[in-house]
Amino acid sequence: MTDTTNFYINGAWVPPVAPRPCDVIDPATEEVCATISLGDLADTDAAVKAASDAFPAWAATPPADRAAYVAKILEQYNKRSEEMAEAIRLEMGAPIDLARDSQAPCLPDHIEDFLEAFKDVVWDRPLRDDAPNDRIIMEPIGVVGLITPWNWPMNQVTLKVIPALLAGCTIVLKPSEEAPLSSLLFAEFVHDAGVPAGVFNLVNGDGAGVGTQLSTHPDVAMISFTGSTRAGTAISKAAAETLKRVKLELGGKGANVIFADADPKAVKRGVRKCMNNTGQSCNAPTRMLVEQSIYDRAVEEATEAAHSVKVGPTTEPGRHIGPVVNKSQWDKIQGMIQMGIDEGARLVAGGTGLPEGVNRGYYVRPTVFADVSNDMNIAQQEIFGPVLSIIPFKDEAEAIAIANDTAYGLTNYVHSSDGARRNRMARALKSGMVEMNGMSRSSGSPFGGMKMSGRAREGGLWGIEEFLEVKAVSGWDNTTD
Ligand code: NAD
Repeated sequence: MTDTTNFYINGAWVPPVAPRPCDVIDPATEEVCATISLGDLADTDAAVKAASDAFPAWAATPPADRAAYVAKILEQYNKRSEEMAEAIRLEMGAPIDLARDSQAPCLPDHIEDFLEAFKDVVWDRPLRDDAPNDRIIMEPIGVVGLITPWNWPMNQVTLKVIPALLAGCTIVLKPSEEAPLSSLLFAEFVHDAGVPAGVFNLVNGDGAGVGTQLSTHPDVAMISFTGSTRAGTAISKAAAETLKRVKLELGGKGANVIFADADPKAVKRGVRKCMNNTGQSCNAPTRMLVEQSIYDRAVEEATEAAHSVKVGPTTEPGRHIGPVVNKSQWDKIQGMIQMGIDEGARLVAGGTGLPEGVNRGYYVRPTVFADVSNDMNIAQQEIFGPVLSIIPFKDEAEAIAIANDTAYGLTNYVHSSDGARRNRMARALKSGMVEMNGMSRSSGSPFGGMKMSGRAREGGLWGIEEFLEVKAVSGWDNTTD
C-alpha cells in the first residue's frame, strides 16, 4: 500500500502541508497498525480546488464513459479484494471471514447495483405531454464532500463515491480517522482505474478539522455524511452559512417486533443480527419487542443464542464476533451495560468486563437484558455494541407505540405469519426501512431513515439522484438538441 501519511489530491499522492501524525490502532491487539496524517485547511483547500477545477470536464463526460471508469474501479477491487479485507480487519476489528464475506464485498455489490440503476437515470425529458416546451434537466450538483464512519467503511464509502462519480460530481472524501486504511486502498483503485486527476480526492482528518472545513467550504455544494447524530447536527449547523445540500445517514435504535405467530427462529435470528459486526451497525435490531404470550420462552431462547455467540481474534476464521473499534467505544458500552443494571433491567447474558480468557483488545461480552422498559436509557440510546434489550408488549397497538417511541427512525423489523398484520405494521412504523420475516431488502432498495436517523436515501436510483440538481426550463426548442 501507498505511504499512509499521504493524501490523494489531483491525481497524485501528496504529503500534508504540515505534518500532523495520527496512529491507527488495531482494536484486536491495542497496537499501532499504521500512521496517517490529519489534514489542515491548506490540504482541504487544495483538494477542493482540484475537485472544482476537474468538475466542468467530468460533468461533461458522457454518462457511459463515467460508468466505464466505475467498472474499472471494480476490476481493481477484483484483483485486490484480499488486501481490502485485510485493511478492514486491521483498522476496525472485523474478524477476517466477516471482512472477506460481508465488509469488503460491499464494494463490488454496490458498484454492480449502481451501474444497473444508472441505466434508469433520465437526464433530460419533457415535463408533460401538454407542456412540450417545458424541459426537466438533471445536472450534477458540483463538488461534494463525503464524510464516512468506521463501522462498515467500504459500504459507506462506495454508497457515496460511486453514485457521486456516476452523477458527474467531483469528490473530496474524508474517511473516518479510525478506519482510513480501506479508503487509502480504495483511492489506489480509483487511481489505477485511470479516473481523471482531480475527480476524486482523499484527505484524512478529524471531524473538528477537515470535517468542519468541508462542511463550511464555500466551494463544496453538498455534504453527504454517515455517522453519529451528534456529528450530523454539527455538520448541519456548520453547513447552514453556505446553504449547501446536507444528506445525513445517522444512528438507529431499531425495534424487532416478534409476534406470537412468528417463525420459531425469529428470536435467535434477531440476537445474531443485533450482535453482527459486534453490534456496530446503525440498522441493528437492538430492541427486541416480544408478545407477552411467548415472552418467557423468547427470553430463554435469546439468552441461549447470546451464549452461543463466540468472541474471538480477528485473524481467526469463523463466525465469531471481534472487538469494538476503540477504547472510548469500549468504555461507553461498559457504561451503558452498567446503566442497564442500575436501571433495574434483568441481565440474562453477558455483562461488564472483558469476556472470559481475554486480556487485551477491546472485546465486549455479548449481552442481553430482559424486562427492559422503553423509557430506560438502554432502550433509548444507541449503544453501538453487542447489547440487546428485550421488551414485552401485549398487543399490536402497544407494539407500534413502543417501536415508535424513540428519537430514531432507521430500520424496524417485524415477525408474524399474518400478512395483513405485517402490512399494517409496515405502514405504522416510523422508519425509513421496515424488514419483515427475515427477508432482506433487495438490491436497489433505498437505505435511509427518518427523524434523528437523518433523511438521506442511499443505494439504487435514489442514491444517484441525491447527487443531482433538478433544473426546470421553459421555452425549450424541440427541433434541435
Ligand atoms: P462519528 O459521527 O463520530 O464520525 C463519523 C465521521 O464524521 C468521521 O469521519 C468523523 O471524523 C466525522 N466527524 C465527526 N465529527 C464531525 C464534525 N463535527 N464535522 C464533520 N465531520 C465530523 O461517528 P462514528 O463513531 O465514526 O460512527 C458511528 C455512528 O455512525 C453511529 O452512531 C452509527 O449509528 C452511525 N451510522 C449510521 C449509518 C446510517 O446509514 N444511518 C451507517 C453507519 C453508521
